[in-house]
Amino acid sequence: MPAPRTVAHVLLCGLVLAVAACSAPQPAPPAAPEVVDAAAVSRPPPDPVREPVVVLDAGHNGGNGAHVAEIGRQVPDGRGGTKACNTTGTQTAAGYAEHAFTFDVTARVAKRLTAKGVRVVLTRTDDAGVGPCVDERAAVGQRAGADAVVSIHADGSAPANRGYHVAYSDPPVNDVQSGPAKVLATALRDSLHGAGFPDSNYIGRGGLSPRRDLAGLNLATRPTALVECANMRHAAEAALVSTPAGRDRYAAGIAGGILAFLGR
Ligand code: ZN
Repeated sequence: MPAPRTVAHVLLCGLVLAVAACSAPQPAPPAAPEVVDAAAVSRPPPDPVREPVVVLDAGHNGGNGAHVAEIGRQVPDGRGGTKACNTTGTQTAAGYAEHAFTFDVTARVAKRLTAKGVRVVLTRTDDAGVGPCVDERAAVGQRAGADAVVSIHADGSAPANRGYHVAYSDPPVNDVQSGPAKVLATALRDSLHGAGFPDSNYIGRGGLSPRRDLAGLNLATRPTALVECANMRHAAEAALVSTPAGRDRYAAGIAGGILAFLGR
């Protein structure tokens, strides 16, 4: 269970106690229970208290390819070193770009989460810009106080390789990475697996991939995982990611995992 829910629960209990204390007559007569506003006590807390926040991070950006120097700038990698600000991403053999895929799937996930009362924050809102850098993407999750942060990508591996995998920071560099982040990654894996997508046959195990080289995961202070939906160089998966119906399937799988993690 994510920590913010526990905090919200504590706040709610504190609020209920405060309301009860303030409304108690001085001194309380035997009939005191009649003045208690039961509806007010049982009323759900205001939305801002319980509304979960999810940051969706669509990998890469459409303008990265034309700004090689800018996205090649070195930024902190979360383990004491540096790495490139961002990359151009991959594409299918037919030329369908990963940045377009991630942007579209992210919008579909956002729509599904919003319909369930989740507040969604995006790390980029168009597909023609540059960046942001990986360290800035991680900072978005921190500033939002996100209950979950999910980066969405697709891979560009050898044509025989196929399947999704979900990456998480390992070895972890903080308690969030060693606990909730792994729970989030597992929830995403369970949902994608349950939706019928094959576990990766070339990286990680059982659809999960511990990674130490992904800055966005290393820098995370909120529960964060990265989904590699498919191998865009595998013929059948390339066909799937290239259709709106296929992308909707990936979005449903990712949204299902996030909602399960949030307990919604
Ligand atoms: Zn990518």
